[in-house]
Amino acid sequence: MTDRRFEVIILERYCKGCGLCVAFCEHGKLVIDPRPNKRGVQAAVVQPDVECTGCLRCTAVCPDAAVEVFRIGRRTGKADASATK
Ligand code: SF4
Ligand code: SF4
Repeated sequence: MTDRRFEVIILERYCKGCGLCVAFCEHGKLVIDPRPNKRGVQAAVVQPDVECTGCLRCTAVCPDAAVEVFRIGRRTGKADASATK
């Protein structure tokens, strides 16, 4: 069992709503927002209650580098400044 968990951030200004990250995340951590944002894009959003395993498939498939995954220490909850991307 790992002592790590991961935080996922969608850079909304870069996301074009293609849905690739959603399709490739086996855990349902990412979904497409049904409401368009200010740019008229239905961007990907993170489901806060769903666990991320840090597999990085979402970052690998995003054509616009709009997904970032960070490793977070489970005990302290503080980011250890080591972006996995
Ligand atoms: S790193 Fe893996 S588990 Fe986490 S959101 Fe991306 S595809 Fe899903
Ligand atoms: S793959 Fe990238 S551009 Fe496409 S919906 Fe996900 S974050 Fe947005």
